[in-house]
Amino acid sequence: MSKGKLFILSGPSGSGKDAVRSGVFKKLPQLKFSISCTTRNPRNIPSEDEKYRFVSRDEFENMIRNDQLLEYAEFCGNFYGTPRPPIEEWIDAGFNVLVEIDVVGQKQIAEKMFEAVSIFIMPPSLAVLRKRLEKRQTEDVDVLERRLGEAVREIKCAVRYDYIVINDALEEAVDDVCEIISGKIPVDENKNNIIYEVLNNA
Ligand code: 5GP
Repeated sequence: MSKGKLFILSGPSGSGKDAVRSGVFKKLPQLKFSISCTTRNPRNIPSEDEKYRFVSRDEFENMIRNDQLLEYAEFCGNFYGTPRPPIEEWIDAGFNVLVEIDVVGQKQIAEKMFEAVSIFIMPPSLAVLRKRLEKRQTEDVDVLERRLGEAVREIKCAVRYDYIVINDALEEAVDDVCEIISGKIPVDENKNNIIYEVLNNA
């Protein structure tokens, strides 16, 4: 049996990557999703339970010590990491797996697993990103500003991803990601131009 592939989905807070991921899993139900561990406090939204196992700092540090994490990163003061065992089992069993992680985690995985395919979900502009975050109202103002600052840093990292998908119309973004996972789209050549446009349409 051939092995499965690992797909990495990243994008700044407010890029809509959660909505894209949900749409992708509806269309590709055989795809496996990696549940991350995080030390962040739960936001008390039911959809978060599909995404995270909330752990203490001690538990997280234990997982690092026992080499249980494929990658991990600190983001806005909290730790996030991808548990290694389920991913290895699924890939060996021939399943494709999707991880939703930040740009630091993507770099770590890309260095270890050259065959991993990375996809960056891009907001149409910084102005749209700010509006989406303000509408979401899940964060205090200072956290929101911090996340926007992070977003600029993350968008600049999109250049090292295999694909950039602009999430302007959700259905189209979902279809693009499904086609990438199905191997139907060639790798993007135009990444620097896309990044320039997004950062300068603030
Ligand atoms: P949030 O707090 O908004 O749920 O997530 C903050 C950031 O952490 C997002 O960019 C999200 O993709 C990223 N993230 C979620 N899980 C992981 C993980 O397991 N590892 C890494 N490196 N980043 C993650």
